Amino acid sequence: MKAKRNFNLIRALILSLFVVLCFSFMSFAGPEAGGKEILTVCVPVDRCPVFYLDDSKEEIIGIGADLLREAADNAGYELNFVAMKEETLKDALDNEEYDILMPFGSAIKSASGQSSIVSDNLMQTPFTIVTENNRNLSDLNKLKVGMFRSLGGVAETVKGMYPDMEISLYDDMDDCVKALRSGDVDALLHNSYVWSFILQKPSYEDLSPQTSTIFSMDFRAGTRDTDRGRDIIEHLNRGISDLPDTVSQGIVLDYTSRNLYKYNFFDYIHKYGAVILLGVLLFIAIIIISQQRYTAVKLQQEQKMRELLDHDSLTGALSINGFRKKVVEILRDNPDTKYFLSYNNIRDFKYINDRYGKEAGDELLSFWVKKSMEVMGDDEAIGRIEGDHVVVFRHAGGNKQLKQDENDVINQVRDFFISRNKDNKIRICSGIYVLTPEDYRNPDVDHMVDYARVAEKKVKENLKESYGFYNPDQWERGMRSADIIENLPIAIGSGEIQVWYQPQVNFETGSITGAEALCRWKHSKLGWISPGEFIPVLEEAGLVYDLDCFVWEKVCQDLQRWNDQGIHRTVSVNVSRNDIKEQADIPNHFKELITTYRLTPDQLHIEITETAYTENSSYIIDASRRLREYGFEVEMDDFGSGYSSLRMLKEIPVDRIKLDFRFLTANGDPEKGRIIVSYMIRMVNDLGLKLISEGVEDIIQARFLQENGCSDMQGFYFCKPLPVEEFEKFSEESIKEFLIKAVRS
Ligand code: C2E
Ligand code: MG
Ligand code: MG
Repeated sequence: MKAKRNFNLIRALILSLFVVLCFSFMSFAGPEAGGKEILTVCVPVDRCPVFYLDDSKEEIIGIGADLLREAADNAGYELNFVAMKEETLKDALDNEEYDILMPFGSAIKSASGQSSIVSDNLMQTPFTIVTENNRNLSDLNKLKVGMFRSLGGVAETVKGMYPDMEISLYDDMDDCVKALRSGDVDALLHNSYVWSFILQKPSYEDLSPQTSTIFSMDFRAGTRDTDRGRDIIEHLNRGISDLPDTVSQGIVLDYTSRNLYKYNFFDYIHKYGAVILLGVLLFIAIIIISQQRYTAVKLQQEQKMRELLDHDSLTGALSINGFRKKVVEILRDNPDTKYFLSYNNIRDFKYINDRYGKEAGDELLSFWVKKSMEVMGDDEAIGRIEGDHVVVFRHAGGNKQLKQDENDVINQVRDFFISRNKDNKIRICSGIYVLTPEDYRNPDVDHMVDYARVAEKKVKENLKESYGFYNPDQWERGMRSADIIENLPIAIGSGEIQVWYQPQVNFETGSITGAEALCRWKHSKLGWISPGEFIPVLEEAGLVYDLDCFVWEKVCQDLQRWNDQGIHRTVSVNVSRNDIKEQADIPNHFKELITTYRLTPDQLHIEITETAYTENSSYIIDASRRLREYGFEVEMDDFGSGYSSLRMLKEIPVDRIKLDFRFLTANGDPEKGRIIVSYMIRMVNDLGLKLISEGVEDIIQARFLQENGCSDMQGFYFCKPLPVEEFEKFSEESIKEFLIKAVRS
């Protein structure tokens, strides 16, 4: 039993010895004995092709990684590469998670001061200087050089070699290049293999490596100088020494011969920017051109549609729609031309169609429109509303033109069938509407057509007439206006227009204080026409200035003649509101006149009607001011006839107010009118302005005015306007005599 126990003890001892032996053998034989030990290797991944993260495999690869992997494989390790999180190798050295770190040139102290131990050299890495635009660098010792912050260790080595070199560290390559381009550093320094990668970036094409490599550095793995550290390094060194040169060179060649740089968006833009821009411009141009073509085609189609809608396909006249538009357009472009609109209709057109067929009817309509168009201009229009209803918009050229149209168009249409050896005479009924000023301000074509149609219906009822007017007065007026305008130049030259004088008297003293020059026209065709009619017509036609220049000159001639006879007279002349335009220099005109006729400025009073001041105040006020400066007396004519504003009296530079007694007393309660006049007289007197009343027709009015403080008067009561010869005979004696008789009666 005891022997058996001893046997068991011996067996246990032998077993335990075996286990101990096995363990110690395992530990002696290194990591390979129990499967490969995995080492965590920390490397920077910002330096392709030495260390970088391969996107497709999601692992860290590169020359350095592959070399170490080969050496570690020889030493029986498996490596797990991790990207360096720390800013520098020194900081990373303190991180216990890492078994090995790379790259080391030589052993350094960690950030916390721990010593490190490094492996044998894996390869010699060349370091190259890069400059901007191939700049030549003479003295390396005096250079300002930029480097990666993570190459702090290398920086220290370089500093040792070139003590006067100024080294600045930057976080990444972009910062390095910025510093180089801005001149903060003269050159950049980095591993030559890394440069071969970085310089593939298109935007760095201005950077070039200096041919001379300034130095090469060892490329080692390292770790903290601990027992374990030393153990790992010892194994690694064995692996490194087993690494054949051919393998190392193969790895380097593999990475440096491949094009590893991958273009990002900005690289493409930089490299192919011009081409991309050209492409984009081409694309935009194509889009714009297509858009324009599309719009042009659309416009063309719209235009065609509009033309179809606006035109009558049978006759070529406008449709009612087109006619409406055209008339509005014509009126807008020709606001000063007189127009009429006629509504025309063929009598018994239905009978014609029945007798000769629809085609013959159509031919007749086309012929009618064609003939009409032959006599019409671009600023006139013809439209077919329906069937045989044709509207014409035409210049109102008077009865002469109507006759001409009858000849050129209506008679031709009348004989349409006769000239084709058929016995039917065509009769056209026309209603004419003459446009009024309101039609120019607010053109309503449908209304005009309606009015013309009303006239046409009347004509139809009356079998004798072929045309009639909706508004014959307007036509008459238009005809008279045309006669006035047409004849003005002849009238001025031929003596048809004369200047008459209406004396102005002082009712208190019986003296003649002056006269107003008023023009008279004995028209060859229309007889005596009053300025009340022809002045507005000439104003509208823009011709009143021609007339006034004639009147003013005639007055000056008379004044000069009277001066020569020793009679110093004063005459008031009328100035139309249309004479005083911004561009017409009326004050200068009068100044030249009195110089020519050797008059004194006090002999001319300039009458400007009250309404002119309210309409165009600024330049009329300016003209008044200048006239007064030249010594003329300025009068506000027809005061009380328009919208007199009390403010006006304060602001407008005039010498005399011409109160229109007729306007002030004509309508409403005469008593109230008189009260208003009496207050006005007081006000004007109080304002220190001179005053004259015009339109005085009887002694009661004259007395009333005098009693209220206005003695200067003009009116039929004293004398009507007289031709110059009669006015010359009209003396103070005659007026005094007349007044004495009047007072006595
Ligand atoms: P006006 O300047 O207010 O001229 C006074 C008008 O009143 C004159 O009319 C005159 O004949 C008329 N008249 C004078 N006394 C009486 C009266 O007691 N009772 C009535 N009922 N009327 C009286 P006329 O000559 O027909 O002139 C009318 C207007 O035509 C003038 O009004 C003036 O504004 C304008 N006019 C006349 N001649 C010229 C001229 O040569 N150039 C310009 N631009 N306008 C003129
Ligand atoms: Mg007047
Ligand atoms: Mg007047």
